[in-house]
Amino acid sequence: MAVIGFIGLGNMGFPMACRLKEAGHEIRCFDLNAGSMARALDAGLGPRASVEETVSGAEVVITMLPSGRHVLDVLAADTLPLAPGALVIDCSTIDVASCAIFHETLQKKGLATLDAPVSGGVSGAAAGTLTFMVGGTESAFARALELLRAMGKNIFHAGAAGAGQAAKICNNMLAGISMVAVSEALHLAKRLGLDPKRFHEIASTSSGQCWALTSYAPEPGLVASAPANRGYEGGFASELMLKDLRLAEQAAVASQSPALLGAAAASVYAMHCAAGRGRLDFSSIIKMLGA
Ligand code: NAD
Repeated sequence: MAVIGFIGLGNMGFPMACRLKEAGHEIRCFDLNAGSMARALDAGLGPRASVEETVSGAEVVITMLPSGRHVLDVLAADTLPLAPGALVIDCSTIDVASCAIFHETLQKKGLATLDAPVSGGVSGAAAGTLTFMVGGTESAFARALELLRAMGKNIFHAGAAGAGQAAKICNNMLAGISMVAVSEALHLAKRLGLDPKRFHEIASTSSGQCWALTSYAPEPGLVASAPANRGYEGGFASELMLKDLRLAEQAAVASQSPALLGAAAASVYAMHCAAGRGRLDFSSIIKMLGA
């Protein structure tokens, strides 16, 4: 069993750290937020007073932080007492450029690194059913596998360093665009006098079929488990979808890739968040259309 330093005990990090503890690992952890530290203490996670104390002597360090800036602030400090040869896994969703700096800086110090962003949200983190998209060497991936399996159900080695973040932002760009498209189609169908349930049934077995329609429909009454049926509470917040669409936009510009619909979806989500709906699940985007 490993000694793990876990940094970032927010909505995702806390349940992920709990899964690792349940799997028998020793967790030392840190978060800037006093409430998160108190919750960690109650859960027997072993809170420490600083990042330095958390990583000192840990065989594996895991970060689950808001953005690339936070990850580099925490991990790139020259004086950080990481154990020689430790494995550092960043599970946050961050920009491609910061991810490259993360790998480069720590590898220069002789550490093994992985970018391992997740999909599956807070409920997936609590249930240990996350999907991990991992970038890094085969040997680092092999070292991490047992730990990732304690937190997730589908573990993919996407490729070399940075491939996990690339997979994550491409997937979420696709999900964001699809949700806007499904919302537009449902809205138009209603305006044309179609019964939404009947249209949903037809499109679900026709060429418009996609996950946003069949598993996560934005209109209440179509998919029982979808956030649309509980006032768009829980699920994946619109503000997080906006963050990921912005990361995809940045990556598209940097790699000179056309991403017209990705940019359009980002604008729609930006308006949605500016209208005060950032905390609602991203399927609430249908509200932008007045549905
Ligand atoms: P969160 O804001 O709930 O948690 C982030 C935590 O990091 C906070 O508790 C904050 O206090 C802590 N933190 C910030 N700076 C710190 C520092 N310097 N030292 C120690 N702690 C620090 O965010 P979250 O929802 O847990 O998301 C974490 C990451 O996972 C993000 O990159 C997000 O995009 C990604 N993600 C989130 C979801 C989701 O459904 N919430 C799903 C997939 C991926």
